[in-house]
Amino acid sequence: MPGPVSEVDVAAIRAEVLFTPDCPHAAQAESLLRRILEEEGVAVAVERIQVDDLDHAAGLGFRGSPTIRLDGLDVAPDPAAEVGLACRRYRQPDGRIAGVPPEEQIREVLRERLASLEPGPGPLARLREVPARAMRAGFVWAARQEGIERLSKRLPVTRGLVRRFVAGEDLASTLVALRRLRDDGLGTTVDVLGESVDSEVAATAAADAYLSLLDALQREGLDGNVSLKLTQMGLDIDRSFCQRNVARIVDRAFETDAFVRVDMEDHTRTDATLAIARELHGRHGNVGVVIQSYLRRSEADVETLITERIRVRLCKGAYNEPASVAFPTKPEVDESYVHLMERLLAEGTFPGIATHDERIIERARDFTARESIGRDRYEFQMLYGVRRDLQQALVAEGLAVRVYVPFGSEWYPYFMRRLAERPANLLFVLRSLARERRR
Ligand SMILES: Cc1cc2nc3c(=O)[nH]c(=O)nc-3n(C[C@H](O)[C@H](O)[C@H](O)COP(=O)(O)OP(=O)(O)OC[C@H]3O[C@@H](n4cnc5c(N)ncnc54)[C@H](O)[C@@H]3O)c2cc1C
Repeated sequence: MPGPVSEVDVAAIRAEVLFTPDCPHAAQAESLLRRILEEEGVAVAVERIQVDDLDHAAGLGFRGSPTIRLDGLDVAPDPAAEVGLACRRYRQPDGRIAGVPPEEQIREVLRERLASLEPGPGPLARLREVPARAMRAGFVWAARQEGIERLSKRLPVTRGLVRRFVAGEDLASTLVALRRLRDDGLGTTVDVLGESVDSEVAATAAADAYLSLLDALQREGLDGNVSLKLTQMGLDIDRSFCQRNVARIVDRAFETDAFVRVDMEDHTRTDATLAIARELHGRHGNVGVVIQSYLRRSEADVETLITERIRVRLCKGAYNEPASVAFPTKPEVDESYVHLMERLLAEGTFPGIATHDERIIERARDFTARESIGRDRYEFQMLYGVRRDLQQALVAEGLAVRVYVPFGSEWYPYFMRRLAERPANLLFVLRSLARERRR
């Protein structure tokens, strides 16, 4: 792994907000840009440039206030706009007009700039050379190390980022987040964080937490949909104990008109997970499973689940798997995803298309339009805190989106998998650590 990240890597990126003195949206543009830079792990200061008169505007090629530029490029260029001091208006993905450019457009330009950085000797360049698989392997390994877990939980830097991916440490704060998501038109599925428990007492307590959750969801009139992991329910202790433990949840879910999704863990648990989910589905028909497109076996599993009319959430897969069981490259995983997605959309039972990959979402749109598959026959699913702009844009189009909302104190392994999915997340952590060390 590379050493601590210095800020030299991205000093090449210039981030500017240009504005007129009376602009009502200048501060908003600046704080939006700051937040995006922070979330993308780019530690540069935002330069504020006040444009006072027409000559100044002409010299800068300034076409209205506020304007956000990255490396001198307008993030939302409007060739029709004249050089001058007018107020700018920006159309958002949902059609609304706002005083600042759309968040995702700024992100995209930033990512393009980052991708175009010449590989040099700096740590960022070295990090880019680390293959995604190797990076995932590192994080998934770290997710199992108790020493690293204890250390990370103490670091203030981790907390900020954890808050982005985890709705709360307790049920009360999570209910607030769930209400907000519901008001935004999003469906939810709630995960009480925890996995790999090694005592029956802990597994029983985890199931009890789900019973309280189901009661609270019903009481509050919130979406009755939960996701759980079998290793949290005692799978590694005793399989039939685990099944009985989850059956309690499935029965309570039935009473409260809720649905239970059994998450998929690493490939050594696939058989047991599918078998238990299948048996539990047989109780009341309110249980679904997850299929990972990176597994070579998934095509056969999908066909069986289609025949059994069991609901499938399709994801790419978040664990570090050997090439003997999983496709080793991203193009193969993506190709498998599209194939399985089309099979599920065509013949599956209300599949959950769980991805933030815009190209794949576009393929789903094309396929459902071509095959006249109604919007009520499937849903998109995304993770809490990931691509909120995309979640909103799909909802604005009238498509169903469900957000996976984890909560609880056992966030560490979940959090590490989220870091593993994206180098920018890792960069953010490394940079913050480097900053903390300098304090
Ligand atoms: C609802 C839901 C449930 C899931 N359940 C399971 C499960 O049961 N078992 C399992 O193995 N995996 C599960 N996953 C995780 C999944 O397998 C992937 O690891 C994860 O979704 C990233 O893949 P992607 O499809 O978004 O595509 P990618 O190609 O990895 O990402 C596409 C784009 O999405 C954005 N993005 C993706 N991940 C992140 C992130 N962590 N932070 C910031 N941006 C990100 C980036 O813009 C990226 O460019 C689930 C995912 C979702 C959405």
